Amino acid sequence: MRIVVLAGGIGGARFLTGVRAYARTTGAEVTAVVNVGDDVWMHGLRITPDLDSVMYTLGGGIDPERGWGRAGETWTVKEELAKYGAEPSWFGLGDRDIATHLVRTRMLNAGYPLSAVVAALCDRWQPGVALLPATDDRLETHVVTELDGAEQAIHFQEWWVRHRAQVPAKRFVFVGADAAKPAAGVLDALSGADVVLLAPSNPVVSIAPVLAVAPLREALVAGSAPVVGVSPIIGGSPVRGMADRCLAALDVACTAEGVGRLLGARTAGGVLDAWLVDPVDAATDVPGVRVGAAPLWMTDEDATAAMVRAALELGGLS
Ligand code: GDP
Ligand code: CA
Repeated sequence: MRIVVLAGGIGGARFLTGVRAYARTTGAEVTAVVNVGDDVWMHGLRITPDLDSVMYTLGGGIDPERGWGRAGETWTVKEELAKYGAEPSWFGLGDRDIATHLVRTRMLNAGYPLSAVVAALCDRWQPGVALLPATDDRLETHVVTELDGAEQAIHFQEWWVRHRAQVPAKRFVFVGADAAKPAAGVLDALSGADVVLLAPSNPVVSIAPVLAVAPLREALVAGSAPVVGVSPIIGGSPVRGMADRCLAALDVACTAEGVGRLLGARTAGGVLDAWLVDPVDAATDVPGVRVGAAPLWMTDEDATAAMVRAALELGGLS
């Protein structure tokens, strides 16, 4: 079986540990198509937060408490930058992490597409799944917000990390999405897929920017593989993180039903055939979408692999 997973950072990474565990017992092939909307330049380095969360998590290098960045991290460079007053000082760049960003930036400057950079980095991390950026082109999530009495668009990272999503967002703009093409390998993965899973990632700033790559979305919608989404919301809570703040900007209820309806039925202009929710949300109704329930707490790899099996069964596979 060939499984394609659309994923953001931490939620996507955890879910992928379960997909990989399932694949190891069944011989399935897994391709993760990861959000690049969070990608940003800092101190002359190109940072790809979601790809790195997935690569470090699957490669065993993640800091498990923080959920992002490297285990055993030190912060000497960050401290030294602060002593120069070098902005942005609000973004955590660890010393070990910086090595990854240096390799990436050097390769990008030499003309390699991001997908080739990811493949090179994965030679070291051996994530056990094929890791692809949604696009090799520039696609950045910007947030239109009210700052200092004026409407301003800021990079998503500035809103999320610097302002902790406390400044209300008016809307999200995926800069570059109009012209962005799927990265090398993405369309082939979709056309060869037996099933497409949407990880329980932030629907507004992780899944939406992936789907904003029009040919990618079209291939998913036109494809023969069932599309099964897994809810990132359990009992009205985003579990961890601030997805509720993103959903509020879209006037979407922070519920499994709200997110399911936002993604919508494939038969009605959306992307879903099936939507997996937690048992506490079993009453969820999304018109045109088969709704199923299974425990969705990604507490460990076994629990997450059980979620994956439930999602595949709901999609008519097992
Ligand atoms: P980010 O890019 O690092 O923010 O990560 P993602 O977008 O991939 O995932 C973040 C989302 O994962 C959060 O908004 C939560 O809603 C969801 N999430 C986190 N932990 C869990 C969990 O244990 N179960 C479920 N169902 N969702 C979770
Ligand atoms: Ca992210």
